[in-house]
Amino acid sequence: MSQSLPSNPLLQNHELPPFDEIQAQHIVPAIEAILDENRRAVDAILKADTFTYAGLAHSLEELSDRLNKAWSPVSHMNSVVSNDELREAVNYCLPLISEYETELGQNKDLFKAFETLAQSDEFTTLSVAQKKVVNNSLRDFRLYGVALDDTKKAQFAKLSKQLSEITSQFGDNVMDATDAWSKLITDAAELAGLPESALSLAKQAAKSKGEEGYLLTLDAPSYFPVMVYCENAALRKELSLAITTRASDKGPQAGQFDNSQLMVQILSLRKELAQLLSFSNFAEQSLATKMADTPAQVIDFLNDLAAKSKSAAQDDFKALEAFAQEHYKVESLNPWDVAFYSEKQKKAAFDISDEQLRAYFPAPVVTAGMFQVANKLFGIEVKEVFDMPTWHADVTTYAIYKDNKMIARFYLDLYARGKKRGGAWMDDCRVRRQLTDGSLQLPVAYLVCNFPGPIGDAPALLSHNDLQTLFHEFGHGLHHMLTQVDCAGVSGINGVAWDAVELPSQFLENWCWQRESLELISSHHKTGESLPAELLNKMLAARNFQSAMAMARQLELALFDMRLHIEFTESEEHQIQTILDEVRQQVSVTPVSPDNRFQQAFSHIFSSPVGYGAGYYSYKWAEVLSADAFSLFEDEGIFNAATGEKFLSTVLANGGSQDAMDLFVAFRGREPSVDALLKQDGIAA
Ligand code: ZN
Repeated sequence: MSQSLPSNPLLQNHELPPFDEIQAQHIVPAIEAILDENRRAVDAILKADTFTYAGLAHSLEELSDRLNKAWSPVSHMNSVVSNDELREAVNYCLPLISEYETELGQNKDLFKAFETLAQSDEFTTLSVAQKKVVNNSLRDFRLYGVALDDTKKAQFAKLSKQLSEITSQFGDNVMDATDAWSKLITDAAELAGLPESALSLAKQAAKSKGEEGYLLTLDAPSYFPVMVYCENAALRKELSLAITTRASDKGPQAGQFDNSQLMVQILSLRKELAQLLSFSNFAEQSLATKMADTPAQVIDFLNDLAAKSKSAAQDDFKALEAFAQEHYKVESLNPWDVAFYSEKQKKAAFDISDEQLRAYFPAPVVTAGMFQVANKLFGIEVKEVFDMPTWHADVTTYAIYKDNKMIARFYLDLYARGKKRGGAWMDDCRVRRQLTDGSLQLPVAYLVCNFPGPIGDAPALLSHNDLQTLFHEFGHGLHHMLTQVDCAGVSGINGVAWDAVELPSQFLENWCWQRESLELISSHHKTGESLPAELLNKMLAARNFQSAMAMARQLELALFDMRLHIEFTESEEHQIQTILDEVRQQVSVTPVSPDNRFQQAFSHIFSSPVGYGAGYYSYKWAEVLSADAFSLFEDEGIFNAATGEKFLSTVLANGGSQDAMDLFVAFRGREPSVDALLKQDGIAA
């Protein structure tokens, strides 16, 4: 294949990916060639007499950048303009790349080389970022089990393989249990209350199975509308029982896809693996790469939030009970009544619709306004450019300038279309780094959303939720693009602890809720009027509806996850249920059915080797960071340029080169406090 290489666009060292030239047939030869070359280069690196930063760490960075520059556009295209050939090529390469990465992670000679570098005189002269690269590498080698003796290494490999099989089996069981349940309704009266969209979905589902009527399933788009809108309490009860007993020994499929044994096996394998790496439990191992230092610190954090929000959560629930009693003569609420009456209560309290708001948020106004927000905060200029090749005509491209110098570029792909993966995300295309010749490679980002596109001549109109999604991803993008770090491993979002990575994204969302910024990002598509105060006030009031109840639910999941991974002991029977019951006793305010076995389908923490296991708390942790960071702007002005500059020069500029807690403290002047989040959620004054 090597004769075709010179013309392979993935092998030419382009500044930006030549999206207009990349074809599926380029992928496999390019990736295979790069992996081959990289392997040879690693061998050459290891032949050195002495290990210097330039010779070892920077050379490895070069290799990984080479791979990333070819792989990033390819895997990106597979997400946004997929086709069978592309997918096939990508799926062929995925195991090759993961094999290569495992090889590097478990390379004992490389590990020793990094140890030598860490102990050398040169190490003390390295920059903060360079030192961090070396220390992260040593940490990651150890987490790969490289430091183990041969017997333990073999055991480590065996257990890891078992774990990945069992976690995958866990996920399969959840999926099979979900798919195995359905209910055909032939009398539409039984579905009274369901919105038109849900009815037609159910009708379509029945039709696709060759049935007449309405088919309900446990997939979210079918299940949620029933729980929220359907007047038929018996039907809600039936669905609620079916979904909370999936993959368990209870409910309509009791014992059929039961995950009970797998959960015990997953927890004990994780514990055993963690102990092989000299951690006392899996929670400690999980935190080795996170901002939180110890399991005890996470438990204290969650307990503190729980103590401070419990009574507000109880008040939320009491208000719901009172509402149901007053308006619907319901004496006590069952688990399957909570979402249903909550929706009625919400509608009665704040009559505000998505559609009403949409008219104020035409996409071009929103994006231009968002760039103005970034300009006021961080002194950057975002200019549209027209010389970057893209993968689709919908994509717009931009360059970011600071002090009249270009510092980054990005692609914006806003609208949903066929062959494009759902959801929204930011990913890196190029990472900022210093090249061997001393010049700088500038960061480039992809920002992808799936908003409904423009129809005819009218601009696309975004919902307020879409608006937050866009700001969220732009926040990730700014983290990646405004970095000042020149070492790829810790530049931008690289090397940022998982529980801190959502700080800039959630932080930027705050500007979707401020009167001053809404003036910049809203303009009625017909009248040009910006969002009226009356609508904004309704929006703000609705934002905190049942926020304490939602907090209680998240804390229940996070505490359960963390305690489980600290306390798990194989010999203790029923320990999983016991811990969950205790946590519910502590934080939960809503009724739970005695047959509820929700944990059997808690895929977040059980269905992949790392996933959110002993990491579910990250959601709340990052929310606390972002709310607390934003509270400084509330004190000093939401467009205070000095405060913006400070956030830029601490959190955004330093990426993963410094400890996330140190960066937060550098910005905020103290460690994070939960108070700002409690205030933002309307839980504390
Ligand atoms: Zn995010």
